[in-house]
Amino acid sequence: MAKKSEEKKLQEKLCRKKESAWKDTGDKGKKAIFAFAEGYMDFLGRSKTERPAARNIITMLKKAGFKDINSAKTLKTGDKVYLDQKGKSVICAVIGKNEKRMNLLGAHIDSPRLDLKPNPVFEDKGLAMLKTHYYGGIKKYHWTNVELALHGVIHTKSGKKIEFALGEKGDDPKFIVSDLLPHLAKKQMEKTGSEIIEGEQLNVYVGNIPIKGEDIKDSVKLNVLKSLNKEYGIIEEDFSFAELNFVPAGIPSDIGFDRSMIAGYGHDDKACSYAGLKAIIDMKQPEVTAAVYFSDKEEIGSIGNTGAYSFMLMDFAELLIANLSLKITTGEMLRNSKAISADVSAAINPSFPEVHEESNAALIGHGVVVEKYTGYGGKYSANDASAEYMSEIRALLDKNKIIYQTGEIGKIDSGGGGTIALYLSRYGMDTVDIGPAVLGMHSPREVLSKVDLYETYRLYKAFLENK
Ligand SMILES: [Zn+2]
Repeated sequence: MAKKSEEKKLQEKLCRKKESAWKDTGDKGKKAIFAFAEGYMDFLGRSKTERPAARNIITMLKKAGFKDINSAKTLKTGDKVYLDQKGKSVICAVIGKNEKRMNLLGAHIDSPRLDLKPNPVFEDKGLAMLKTHYYGGIKKYHWTNVELALHGVIHTKSGKKIEFALGEKGDDPKFIVSDLLPHLAKKQMEKTGSEIIEGEQLNVYVGNIPIKGEDIKDSVKLNVLKSLNKEYGIIEEDFSFAELNFVPAGIPSDIGFDRSMIAGYGHDDKACSYAGLKAIIDMKQPEVTAAVYFSDKEEIGSIGNTGAYSFMLMDFAELLIANLSLKITTGEMLRNSKAISADVSAAINPSFPEVHEESNAALIGHGVVVEKYTGYGGKYSANDASAEYMSEIRALLDKNKIIYQTGEIGKIDSGGGGTIALYLSRYGMDTVDIGPAVLGMHSPREVLSKVDLYETYRLYKAFLENK
């Protein structure tokens, strides 16, 4: 082999490289990556909205010895606890030798979808339909011609709670919104993308058979209400007091001849949620209290009593301080804590490279993405991690041989996006965004690479175990 030139050696020493994270995995590494992905795909398929996600998280935590913090009067090093907020968001922790601060991962368990309007049932042209109001940032035309499942909760007037996950089991009916046929779409196709399908056109088909007997108006709608009443005891008014969501039906799939990727609904942000959950379950006894926050409502601004903008994190810190009989304030504990805002980043889609600035964009299959800041043009609404904290993170990445890349979400003025980072850092804690890169984000079927998911897990675990 030819000897390396001085210039080549200098280049290797000084210039950064971007290499595939698959490159040096080996058979053993690949086996671990695929095994991890299998567990994730099972979780993802069963955790479409925040409610089942929170329930599945708590089940896994309980199995690993975590106890409800409200049932623990005193706590000590090594104890494992969780706080369940309304069955929609969860915080869990393993008490460290140093109890006075936390290493905290903050993810979210809600994903974009179609929520039902308060008065959703109507009939038109022989079809019974349900009106929706979309939740989170979507391209509305993505949600047509996709089989949907109905999730959520209705409390009937008589006080019965009915939980839906209809459209997920093999013989369940599914639901759908149809787009216009191309033959008649000449005018539609002249519209801009955001208008091709408008919010008020996201009406979901739920029935077509009219009720038997007297010929009355809206007989298909009545027949649907009749069968809902027979099956569940529901009347039309109950919808106004319910929480119902249409999400893509079905389970995640392997993608590619090499099965290297996963397509599924809600990688954003169940990928980070699952990686964080597995990290806190698998970790060794931490030096510092390790915590993972699974928040809700991130997709609509983290607001509400289950979002990261609520005081839940503060409340949890207060409970820890009280149950550990610490002589510190909540502010002190939170200010001295360190956080990773555990959320996905955008990978370059090779067919649309123009929205990224390539030297600062993430590639799929190239490791976990460290984002110093997110937000919009001019770093607006961003948490901007300090050089000091970035150096700590870099040392952690190097020490644990994590394969990583750095990036921004896209070109400066081509858009942007936020995470819960700003709601963690407002307590004074150091915060940085880190997670895997996703293709087709916020679509009914997002894609990620199994190796990126695994590197994310490895980093989260190292972070929780860090001093
Ligand atoms: Zn997200």
